[in-house]
Amino acid sequence: MSENPDLFINDQWVMSNRGRKNSVDPQKPYAYLVEKERSISGEIEDTAIIFLTNRECPFRCLMCDLWKNTTNESVPVGAIPNQIEWALNHLPDVKHLKLYNSGSFFDGRAIPQEDFKRIASMVSSFETVIVESHPRQINEKCLIFRDMLKPDLQIALGLETVHPDVLKRLNKQMTLEDFSSSISYLTLHGILSRAFILLKPPFLSESEGIYWAERSLDFAFRIGVECCTVIPVRAGNGAMDLLFEKGYFTPPDIHSLEKVLEYGIGLNSGRVFVDVWDLGMFSICNKCIDKRTNRLIEMNLNQKISVPAKCTCDSYYAQ
Ligand code: SF4
Ligand SMILES: [Zn+2]
Repeated sequence: MSENPDLFINDQWVMSNRGRKNSVDPQKPYAYLVEKERSISGEIEDTAIIFLTNRECPFRCLMCDLWKNTTNESVPVGAIPNQIEWALNHLPDVKHLKLYNSGSFFDGRAIPQEDFKRIASMVSSFETVIVESHPRQINEKCLIFRDMLKPDLQIALGLETVHPDVLKRLNKQMTLEDFSSSISYLTLHGILSRAFILLKPPFLSESEGIYWAERSLDFAFRIGVECCTVIPVRAGNGAMDLLFEKGYFTPPDIHSLEKVLEYGIGLNSGRVFVDVWDLGMFSICNKCIDKRTNRLIEMNLNQKISVPAKCTCDSYYAQ
């Protein structure tokens, strides 16, 4: 692991490296889409994702770029249900819904609790609703929302990495104990959880990146997480670009993402997905990128390890 004696990573430093936010409308989600996902029952089903526009997350994680589509102030009561209504009118009928708000659904300054009831009634026809939260914002508000919901609730939390020093340097303001007590709390109350895991956060080599993503999968399943999504780390939020320039960060290679997904599926401990958005930036080879991307998509959906592509770029891939 590389040291970074010339950097002191805190909220101020992360923020001082940011660029401008995008312009967003508090009455409209900033994006929505439908993707296929393997459900807990093993079916491959359409899942809608609504990316809600709301106040910026109070945490300032080193690798996060979600602040780009947020407001500086809380949105008014009623705005979040209006956004959901607007998106649902534009989306096809599907069984599962992710309400992702670039932060924590249970942060009252992001999603007013007064809106829970209307949100719950609007999503009553879904089988599953998935929201995201920082582990330190898991509390009785989750149960209040769960009790209003007809669909099953799943909560996605960023574990990021179990590497103790890197986790500290990510400025997530969370310990592994915080994460596991949040999962225990959710499990105790019958709420399923999923974990976001980073592949190759800053300060790690390619092989260390793989090793720690695999240990993070082990940890997540050991403490009761039902499903894990592995996210290859990218630059683009200012702070990460500076770390790239200074040599503390390089994006992972798509071969590493394949290895980690193979490992996760092989554990047979729960669903394991990888983020397949814009994978071109993790490959040096135009010849096999489509094959590798398709392989990852297929493995996400089938949860079975398929045969990897063979290509001349294999010899340049150094772990
Ligand atoms: S808690 Fe999540 S949304 Fe908030 S800064 Fe960290 S990664 Fe971004
Ligand atoms: Zn290739």
